[in-house]
Amino acid sequence: MKSGGLKQNNMIPQDKIIDGKAIADAMKKEIAAEVAEMLDKGMDAPHLAAIIVGEDGASQTYVASKEKACHSVGMTSSVYRMPANTSEEELLKLISFLNNDEEVDGYIIQLPLPKHINETKVIHSINPKKDVDGFTPFNIGLMQLGEPCFLPATPAGIVELLKRSGVETAGKHVVVLGRSNIVGTPISVMLSRKGADATVTICHSRTQNLPEITRQADILVVAIGKPLFLKADMVKPGAVVVDVGIHRIEDPTTEKGYRIEGDVDFDEVAKVASKITPVPGGVGPMTIVSLLYNTLQAKKRK
Ligand code: NAP
Repeated sequence: MKSGGLKQNNMIPQDKIIDGKAIADAMKKEIAAEVAEMLDKGMDAPHLAAIIVGEDGASQTYVASKEKACHSVGMTSSVYRMPANTSEEELLKLISFLNNDEEVDGYIIQLPLPKHINETKVIHSINPKKDVDGFTPFNIGLMQLGEPCFLPATPAGIVELLKRSGVETAGKHVVVLGRSNIVGTPISVMLSRKGADATVTICHSRTQNLPEITRQADILVVAIGKPLFLKADMVKPGAVVVDVGIHRIEDPTTEKGYRIEGDVDFDEVAKVASKITPVPGGVGPMTIVSLLYNTLQAKKRK
């Protein structure tokens, strides 16, 4: 039986693997210490709220793990569960309530929303001061300008993961696969900013000669949503590979009947990469810890 935790492969030296879970745990301890200090001073704990509309299984699991993470660092968490047939107006009413609720420091709206709700309109109605997911145009604009803001959780987690693993980005060629608003585009911006100083190429479904481009990368960030897409012959020997993808693949040989894979063919690519993030146990835990970090910042800014 395969384990459900951090990817194990006896052929891959462990020092090649970027252990996102261990790094996220260390960050959680730092956040917990700051929360404890706030409580000692008589302040309330930072409060993260989540809105979830409908019964999507993956969304439920994700929100549950955020709640657990909040409690593990001493933060307050609340979840607003709304049925799938909730109207856009009802959702906007709740958003307006949370925008003005003094007790809530930050909140997230779990995506995707049911099709009858206009996602753009909903995101635009979030108070940017409480937008701990960093999805509002206001925070995206500030990110682009390199000004203090709530950075989107997954790319912020990737930047921290690279920093804490001793991966130098300055002057390196980073190739990003995928240009989504939540991962590919913001990570390209963040890594090319002053401070990170990488030279970034961004690829998407219309990119031609993709393997030729990926083979030039010193650091590859793969966020295309296709299981096991990146193969070893697409990677320059010694490159660092960050796998953002998460896929549940049916597998009757495992206890749960499925296994989790990323966008990277880990077993093959790990042989040529100098460092690689596993799935699970790589980028995923960093995403949640970034959200906790943003919630702490929201409380401090108040
Ligand atoms: P997305 O919105 O589906 O975007 C995928 C991107 O990949 C698009 O820009 C698309 O190009 C590009 N693409 C698709 N096929 C391609 C190909 N053959 N060659 C080159 N580019 C291609 O994905 P996302 O939301 O960024 O998510 C990507 C993956 O990360 C998913 O597996 C998701 O579940 C996972 N994820 C994980 C976390 C985490 O915390 N670990 C967080 C967010 C997402 P076009 O723009 O041209 O269509």
